[in-house]
Amino acid sequence: MTFLKFPFHKTVTFEPAERLKKLPPYLFAEIDRKKRELVAQEKDVIDLGVGDPDLATPPFIVDALNEAARDPSNHRYALDAGMPAFRESVCNWFEKRFHVKLDPAAEILPLIGSKEGIAHLPLAIVNPQDVVLVPDPCYPPYRSGTWFAGGIPHLMPLLEGNDFLPDLGIIAKDVLKKSKLMFLNYPNNPTSAVASKEFFRRAVEFAHEHRILIAHDAAYSEVGFDGYQAPSILEVEGAREVSIEFHSLSKMFNMTGWRVGFAVGNAKALSLLGKVKSNIDSGIFQAVQLAAKKALDEGHETHQDILKIYQKRRDLFVNGLKKMGWEVQAPKATFYCWISVPSGYTSSELVMKFLDTMNIIITPGNGFGMNGEGYFRVSLTVPEARLEEALKRIEQSHHHFHSK
Ligand SMILES: *Cc1c(COP(=O)(O)O)cnc(C)c1O
Repeated sequence: MTFLKFPFHKTVTFEPAERLKKLPPYLFAEIDRKKRELVAQEKDVIDLGVGDPDLATPPFIVDALNEAARDPSNHRYALDAGMPAFRESVCNWFEKRFHVKLDPAAEILPLIGSKEGIAHLPLAIVNPQDVVLVPDPCYPPYRSGTWFAGGIPHLMPLLEGNDFLPDLGIIAKDVLKKSKLMFLNYPNNPTSAVASKEFFRRAVEFAHEHRILIAHDAAYSEVGFDGYQAPSILEVEGAREVSIEFHSLSKMFNMTGWRVGFAVGNAKALSLLGKVKSNIDSGIFQAVQLAAKKALDEGHETHQDILKIYQKRRDLFVNGLKKMGWEVQAPKATFYCWISVPSGYTSSELVMKFLDTMNIIITPGNGFGMNGEGYFRVSLTVPEARLEEALKRIEQSHHHFHSK
């Protein structure tokens, strides 16, 4: 027997799979590169780009994790279906919040963050060449998850003239015939738009008529201002038959790094998603589930305090921009401002201008899809003092934007 000596071959190159080649170019790579360059030059960069809360997870949740992590019975593989105590806590919270009763045995599926469930869902119900209705602009996993399953995304433009809701009436019949799934997301990232129960009613009726599963991403349902509380699609009659809804503790309790969320709604769809997941992951660390349970059971007041902080930031930033003559609306929900690009710039050009002249990072709207062109997104995930500093820099560069 002969043995090859290392290196066995001079060059082994791995080509990306076709499904990876289909992903759009990573628009944020250039912004990342510039940011690193500016930071290396010791410039004071203000990052209003990332959709990740800057605040800490409330201590009572961290304490619950610590305690649960010390218990060896939590160290083994978790059940795929999640701990019964966590499932029940989700159902109790859901009933209190939305007045919808869920069956803890069948109508809830714990997720390792909602992104995971969103991206895996098409694998459970979409066959190659099936169509998935995807809003544009949108959170990127709706599209990439569809591609990974071999499905074809059909874009539903979210236009300002229609309050950033999709116009379901204009989707062609032959597209609908091939459609298996529709993603919706309200309160919306990136547009910060909200949807009424009336819109959900229409969507549910549409889904019944065309036999489509609705996947409603409600990651921002708990980030509402001035007392606004977003509805759940499951509040609508008939929704349970045609929809599931994704929820997450990430934005509600500043827990993005913890990776815990859940889907609720149609039992059959959830069991199919669960089947995919049981072949991929092995559940959520039980200590994290117990901490999440604590957050849902006892976090109401802390959650209100978190909202107050975002609301103050929102008012500070939006009023500051308005004073300078920018056209900007205070979002009812989400911690994003979705703002029209001043004339004379594309989204990408404006982003580069903000970086170069002010060292401020914002997100170009077209990064979320072509219908995001002409807009940029500001994330209110920095302290008030930083927002004040950002406003000051914008004011100083103002002559660039409103040449009269
Ligand atoms: C942040 C976010 C999520 C939540 O993701 P997790 O995986 O639960 O952290 C889901 N959808 C949208 C639109 C988001 O912006």
